[in-house]
Amino acid sequence: MNNFINIFEMSPRDGLQNEKTFITTQNKIKFINDLSMCGFQKIETSSFVSPKWVPQLADAHEVFTKINKVKDVKYTALTPNERGFDNAVNAKVDEVAIFAAATETFSEKNINCNIETSLKRFIPIAKKALKEKIPVRGYISCVSHCPYEGQVNPQKVAKIAKHLIEMGCYEVSLGDTTGKGSTDVTSGVLEECLKVLTSDKLAGHFHDTYQNALNNIQLCLEKGIKTFDASVGGLGGCPYSPGAKGNVATEKVNKLLISLGYRTNLNSKKIDECSEMALKLKMGKNYD
Ligand SMILES: [Zn+2]
Repeated sequence: MNNFINIFEMSPRDGLQNEKTFITTQNKIKFINDLSMCGFQKIETSSFVSPKWVPQLADAHEVFTKINKVKDVKYTALTPNERGFDNAVNAKVDEVAIFAAATETFSEKNINCNIETSLKRFIPIAKKALKEKIPVRGYISCVSHCPYEGQVNPQKVAKIAKHLIEMGCYEVSLGDTTGKGSTDVTSGVLEECLKVLTSDKLAGHFHDTYQNALNNIQLCLEKGIKTFDASVGGLGGCPYSPGAKGNVATEKVNKLLISLGYRTNLNSKKIDECSEMALKLKMGKNYD
């Protein structure tokens, strides 16, 4: 079991949320059904966010209730507020995620409040979730570099990560939203986070804008981190982070991990098929 690495598939949420062409609900459902055949333990399926913010994911409820859920796959959702959380529970999601930014300016631009307020707003969600026995995951965006403030203070990242765990998150995913984190920068972030949390509480979420993602993943592996977020076809970005390209591609991460002797239990052929489909959807094509 020791050499197992978990790839958390992000494409239906983090991948699609940045796509300007609306992908029909039917296409999303088929796409998620295909992803369910790849062997992922978890698929971030949608976000219960206001449709005004992310019109692409306005159909979260319909998607969640119409996909063919596969046993042993957990279908997760981002829940930015209490209302979103209630809607997520209604749609029977398996797990929810809450998030914070590592810099004040990104926090203000992304969720219209400072970091402290954003964390406070998530307390009732975390409480409700734990009461309902729904696992909560935490995200921190811009852990290495902020599009507005530049370099990020790694101690601040560590402090927020610890805070999220104390609120009840089982794990915190460290997001290099801009993709500008070199291994030196990432190393500093990990060092601070590992002073306050054990490696099993951390996950890596790298965007591959500047081809840093795979090197950063290798660095995380050396530090004992065993969960990585990725999107088939490298879909995704962030609507609030200008110029941010997609998540690191699942197929690339899978290949890297296998070549390093790790197990992922994923079906590479099915992943490649999903990756091709992801690119077609992005170009406005449909499932036949
Ligand atoms: Zn992302």
